[in-house]
Amino acid sequence: MRVCETVATMRAECASLGYGGRRLGLVPTMGALHEGHLSLLRAARAQCDVVAASIFVNPTQFGPQEDLAKYPRPFARDSELLRAEGVDLLFAPSADEMYPTGAVTHVNVEGLSERLCGRSRPGHFRGVATVVSKLFHVVQPGVAFFGQKDAAQVAVIRAMVRDLLLPVEIVACPIVRESDGLALSSRNVYLSSEQRRQALALFRSLLRVQEAYEGGERDATRLLAAGVEEFSRETGVRLDFLEMVNPESLEPLEFAQPGALVAVAGFLGSTRLIDNVVLS
Ligand code: AMP
Repeated sequence: MRVCETVATMRAECASLGYGGRRLGLVPTMGALHEGHLSLLRAARAQCDVVAASIFVNPTQFGPQEDLAKYPRPFARDSELLRAEGVDLLFAPSADEMYPTGAVTHVNVEGLSERLCGRSRPGHFRGVATVVSKLFHVVQPGVAFFGQKDAAQVAVIRAMVRDLLLPVEIVACPIVRESDGLALSSRNVYLSSEQRRQALALFRSLLRVQEAYEGGERDATRLLAAGVEEFSRETGVRLDFLEMVNPESLEPLEFAQPGALVAVAGFLGSTRLIDNVVLS
């Protein structure tokens, strides 16, 4: 595995390894890798000739009160995991490399960027779209792999690719969970054992909505009320939002339908976790 820290070396390596129509897949990450990330790498390995991964804790997608400084950065362990998954190229740039002095250009996916996590994290999706577009420009992948765990991020990236005419296929991979249902997240390491138990309220609230839907309820207000009721049984968790939206536009739905995205976010102390299900 070749590790590149500069835009120039990564660009040259990608151009050389992707030469001759070889299918190049990109898996963007912020590191602190877990089985969720590895599932994306395995999908990329199965579908591509060349696999590139990036590790970049992107400062512009963190709010001023968020966890940028303490975000875990176990780089040596991450590199070993990537090597073991057969990754060909790792891009691990510094913030200065990705944001040249005086950088004033951003990518803003209007509307979508203000929904779900974008409402409670102003500027988050602008940071995400900006950095992902930079990664696409440097790597020029034929396909990029994202986790359905961040369903709103998938919607924002798909809209950006469509609007900016970027020649990249976007693949969304299923959510990887712990055996009790908790969605894997790099932020789960922040949780105390008590919070780890309480965090299951997120998944349980989604299951409650799904059960009510499968029982025939279609009214979104009533479905979400059932989920909120389930969530509030766990007092240690603070609900940020529980919403039912169109998975592409992220606009709220009045009535549940197959493919509707039910997304939840909650706080355990200062740790914010998210999860979602798609109704079938
Ligand atoms: P992050 O390092 O948190 O930016 O995540 C990098 C990629 O891994 C994103 O596309 C995430 O959606 C994806 N990801 C994170 N957690 C999971 C999970 N539990 N299952 C599947 N994909 C995930």
